[in-house]
Amino acid sequence: MNTHYKKLQSSYLFSKIGKKVGDFQAANPDQRVIKLGIGDVTHALSESILSAFHKGVDDQGSDESFHGYGPEQGYAFLRDKIAEYDYRRNGCDISPDEIFVSDGAKCDTGNIQELFSQDISIGVPDPVYPVYVDTNVMAGRTGEFVDGRYEGLHYLEGNESNGFVPSPPDQHIDLIYLCFPNNPTGTVATREQLAEWVAYARREKSLILFDAAYVEFIRDESIPKSIYEIPGAREVAVEFRSYSKTAGFTGTRCAYTVIPSECMVYDEDGSPHSLKDLWLRRQSTKFNGVSYPVQKAAEAIYTEKGRQEVRALSDYYLENAKLIRNKMTGLGFTVYGGENSPYVWVKAGESSWELFDELLEKAAVVTTPGAGFGSCGEGFIRISSFNHRDQVEEALERIADAFASR
Ligand SMILES: *Cc1c(COP(=O)(O)O)cnc(C)c1O
Repeated sequence: MNTHYKKLQSSYLFSKIGKKVGDFQAANPDQRVIKLGIGDVTHALSESILSAFHKGVDDQGSDESFHGYGPEQGYAFLRDKIAEYDYRRNGCDISPDEIFVSDGAKCDTGNIQELFSQDISIGVPDPVYPVYVDTNVMAGRTGEFVDGRYEGLHYLEGNESNGFVPSPPDQHIDLIYLCFPNNPTGTVATREQLAEWVAYARREKSLILFDAAYVEFIRDESIPKSIYEIPGAREVAVEFRSYSKTAGFTGTRCAYTVIPSECMVYDEDGSPHSLKDLWLRRQSTKFNGVSYPVQKAAEAIYTEKGRQEVRALSDYYLENAKLIRNKMTGLGFTVYGGENSPYVWVKAGESSWELFDELLEKAAVVTTPGAGFGSCGEGFIRISSFNHRDQVEEALERIADAFASR
């Protein structure tokens, strides 16, 4: 076996949540539990996306319109629209040949690390989306897990004093993972904050892996939607996006990664090599593309109607997030996120698990303990807005009742 796998911590967070919810349900069979813990969407695919999806399936049913293997990088009909709507209209100079369509940002953020050498230094946010950490553990780039952290990783700490947006460190780091709007904290990075990271990466010849899976939730016009809005980012940043949270594609599967032509990695002699060429080689060797009907469905997101529908979807979740923010603030909690993000990050005033337990036992509401995302998450819980309005409202009423009597 690959013995690095022995270093991995078992997915203790979600199994522990599952066990606690199961125990609670067994002891309280009449109580209906409301889940605001999940990072999964709850709304169906919208009309124009669904009809394009159906049309794509029908195309596969006759020889004239049938599609076999597609281009590994994704169909041009989709990459052209991504370049136009997600980048050029937003002032970012990204061309279709710099876009790689895939079946998920999770796979891409996990797979890309195989393009780098074993001995690079790696910076990960804390709290963090666990994929960045675990994939590097599997690859053998860390030591053992000691006192809640892997040896050999640089943890970029997010806390109340920096508003959960870490600044570049004093020392050199080769590869830096950033995620904004952030999962789990729901916070966003300003133009100035991202510019600091880009300046750092240029100075240090580092590479930024920028996960923008929640970009659709940004409403504040001053917040950059793409790392490429920062001048100089094309040389030092890769961007990951996904239709999962933005268009309800968690079960349909489509995402993309952007690697600009100027983005370089360096060999042992310091000679530059195109990262885009490496990724193209990797993808065309190990990946055969996303299914044609799914790419047709994704293309429909960029029609006039599709864009309106997707916007309405994120508006809906954002309204949920606002209700959560307002209620928790009203109850005296300090909250972060939830304004340009579907996640609300609530300061517990006690340990993460204590507030988690209290909300489960007194209100039958499931949240996610922040401690499960890293040591800086201790003392916080994440409340997700991915649910139906009536469920969110009922959960908040129950929480208000429980805490009025506290
Ligand atoms: C949900 C999520 C993704 C999306 O992953 P997919 O594989 O595209 O569904 C990526 N990054 C973060 C931080 C996420 O929360």
